[in-house]
Amino acid sequence: MVGLDGLIIPGGESTTIAKGLESADLEPALRAHHEAGRPILGTCAGMIICDAEHLGFIDAQAKRNAFGRQLQSFEADLDVEGIGDEPLRAIFIRAPWVESHGPGVEVLAEYEGHPVAIRDGNVLASAFHPELTEDPRFHAIFMAMTTSASAREGAEERTR
Ligand code: GLN
Repeated sequence: MVGLDGLIIPGGESTTIAKGLESADLEPALRAHHEAGRPILGTCAGMIICDAEHLGFIDAQAKRNAFGRQLQSFEADLDVEGIGDEPLRAIFIRAPWVESHGPGVEVLAEYEGHPVAIRDGNVLASAFHPELTEDPRFHAIFMAMTTSASAREGAEERTR
């Protein structure tokens, strides 16, 4: 993934994404991206793929379909750390929540007492789909992470 400053692992179906990563042998490239400190955003199934049971990019365990299959989909207004006072409209589709996490994980938003947006170092993860609304503020967090990581990497290269 040469030239890629930030990577988004989108929603979908985590079992299918995991199988696809395996059959296309993409895991080494994802690990290299992560180990280089380049940011990753995992949304919904992408959050599950980043969790401790899958790629281990976040020190957290996601619980699949945590809000119940019968609820499948809902919207909620969330208070999200770092985006200002205005709540964020969040769309959850057969969403996971963060069941447990280590002390280094920053919880950016909760819904009904469950973490639904977290950050662990250079990995940002949400249980909801920020791409389905017009509000750019969640992606802006990721863009800021990406900009500062690539600036840092550029500075390191220049001092080499
Ligand atoms: N329920 C899906 C899974 O477990 C995730 C759904 C989504 O990404 N919207 O992978």
